[in-house]
Amino acid sequence: MLKKANNLKELISQQKNIVITTHRGPDGDAMGSSLALYNLLINLGHKVNVVTPNDYASFLNWMPGNDTVIEFEGNEDKAISLTAKADIIFMLDFNTIARLDKFSNTVAESNSYKVLIDHHQDPDMEIADLIFSDSTSCSTAQLLYEVLDAMNMTDQINQDIAECLYVGIMTDTGSFKYNSTTSKTHNVIADLIDKGARNSIIHDLIYDNSSADRMKLLGYCINDKLLLYPENNSAIISLTDEELNRFNFKKGDTEGIINYALAIKGIIFAVLIVQREDLVKLSLRSKGDFKVNLIANKYFQGGGHTNASGGISYHSVNETIKKVEGIIKTYKEELNN
Ligand code: 5GP
Ligand code: MN
Repeated sequence: MLKKANNLKELISQQKNIVITTHRGPDGDAMGSSLALYNLLINLGHKVNVVTPNDYASFLNWMPGNDTVIEFEGNEDKAISLTAKADIIFMLDFNTIARLDKFSNTVAESNSYKVLIDHHQDPDMEIADLIFSDSTSCSTAQLLYEVLDAMNMTDQINQDIAECLYVGIMTDTGSFKYNSTTSKTHNVIADLIDKGARNSIIHDLIYDNSSADRMKLLGYCINDKLLLYPENNSAIISLTDEELNRFNFKKGDTEGIINYALAIKGIIFAVLIVQREDLVKLSLRSKGDFKVNLIANKYFQGGGHTNASGGISYHSVNETIKKVEGIIKTYKEELNN
């Protein structure tokens, strides 16, 4: 880490054109770590742009630097020209280029120096020239802090940067409750609060900022859409286009809903199936040793972490439910351990 950190420090010691990018459907860690790095590099005098593959939930919009973010979808020409000019591309919170979706080719074909900072298992080692990868880190935001620490640069973390990092760590640890949370996490968080992160206000801005429609959608999911398989400690929630429209769905509205299925006593495997235009998106969550990243990878062209993964299906919502029911039966021994 130290040697790589010194390489990175040397790399950013002179003014550069920089693009920072992150995975499709950016979440709190993706945007938090990207905007933290954006603010830091801007303060150091670099020319920096954050380019996301697509848009993201509005509860992330308050973060410092958000107004400058360029979404590739709809701004292709601008994103392509910025990427062509970039000396360095930072890739945060993903481990295979395909996670950039329609932005993948632009980045893959660029000759810029590429730096990956990510906490997913088994990164594609061809993806970047300099790779900071640690799957024991709860979040890319925490890993970014650790990289800054190794560069002796945590004194550069001002309130804006501290708040962005706080968002990444908070959202990827389920507010410091997943087993990826360590004493290191709490030590980093303590330092971020000391550096000005308004912890209580941030929780409010992210979690207590829902529309009434979103809360009603949540109620509907739990009351009407929860399928329970108690003999195999599993649960499924699904939503069709029609149901999303009924509750005036906005990006981010389904985030966190799956955790309510996992909050039921005994449930260790939960799947949320949501129709999205021409495909179906799956969110898989588990408790303990049941590795949902293996399921996401084997059956749904996806991946992620041991206890939180995602993938896609080109079948209907109902067919996808049947497929997940089949998987639950296939894995009944592991699910009853
Ligand atoms: P979510 O269910 O919140 O969309 O995603 C949970 C985690 O699964 C993400 O943090 C990411 O690591 C992973 N993930 C989600 N969707 C995909 C996907 O389509 N492909 C891969 N490889 N990972 C995904
Ligand atoms: Mn993450």
